[in-house]
Amino acid sequence: MRDLANALPELFLLQIGHCRAPEILSRRKGRLRPVDFPAGAALILHPRHGAILFDTGYGRAFFEATAGFPERLYRWMTPATLPEAARLPQQLARFGIDTPDLVILSHLHADHVAGYFDLTTAPTVLTSREAFEALDRGGRLATLKAGCPEPLRQRLKALRPSFIENCAPPDLIPEGFADFAGLRDIFGDGSVLAVPLPGHGIGQFGLFLPETSTGPQFLIADAAWSLRALRENAPPPNMSVMSLGNKGNYLKTFLNLRMLSCVRSDIRLLPSHCAETFSPTLC
Ligand SMILES: [Zn+2]
Repeated sequence: MRDLANALPELFLLQIGHCRAPEILSRRKGRLRPVDFPAGAALILHPRHGAILFDTGYGRAFFEATAGFPERLYRWMTPATLPEAARLPQQLARFGIDTPDLVILSHLHADHVAGYFDLTTAPTVLTSREAFEALDRGGRLATLKAGCPEPLRQRLKALRPSFIENCAPPDLIPEGFADFAGLRDIFGDGSVLAVPLPGHGIGQFGLFLPETSTGPQFLIADAAWSLRALRENAPPPNMSVMSLGNKGNYLKTFLNLRMLSCVRSDIRLLPSHCAETFSPTLC
C-alpha cells in the first residue's frame, strides 16, 4: 500500500489546445513564420491535498466568447485549435478525475482560464486578488486588449475565488528565490509555493514545488514563452511585452528566472506555452 505520509507530489503536464502566432512575438530572435504555441496546464496529484490543477487551457467558453465582434479579433490574431480529445474533462478522465480538488489560475488570460468552464462542476478556484479585482476595470475593448474577452470576463466575475494573498508566507525562502518577492505557502506545509511573476498580465504568479516524484519543478506561466527564450536571453519584443503587461516588471522577472536557472539547475522550469516543454501529440 502506498505510504501517503511520505509520498511526493506527482506533476503531469497537460496541453489543452494550442494557438498559432508568429514566432517573433514570443522571442526577439524568433522568425516571422507562424508556429504552434501549446496552451499548457498541469495536474498535480498531491498525497495530502488531492488533485490540483494549475491553469486550464482553452475550452468552449473561449470559442463562445470570441464568436462575435470585436472579440473575434482575438481569434483572428491567434487562431486557436482544441480537438475534442484534448478538452480538459477528457484529459482529467484519463486520470480518473471528474472534479479537481482545487483549480489554481496563474492569471486571467483567456487561454489559461477558459477550460475551467468545461468542467461539469465548479471546483474551488485560487487566484490572485490583484488579478480578480482588475476584472472590474475597463470597458469591452480594454478587457479584450488585456486578453480576457468580455463574455469570459463576466463568467470569471461570477466566481467566488480564494486569493493567494491570504496564504501565509513560507517559513523559509527556498535557495535561489530571494529576488522573487511575496512568496506564499498555499497549504502551509511548504509543498506548493505561489511565486509572484509580475510583468505579464495582472497579478500573475507561478507555482514552485520544491519536491515532486521527478524533482523540483517550477510552473512559470507566461513569465517566459519558451525555455529557448530564457537560454538565449531573448525576451519577447517590446510590442508583445507592453501589449499584455509592464515591460520593466517583465524584464526583471525574466532576469530573475535566468539567474534562478543558473543557481538552481536542479529545478525544471515549465513555461505554459513552450513547445519544447509540452508534447505535441494530442493537438
Ligand atoms: Zn497570458
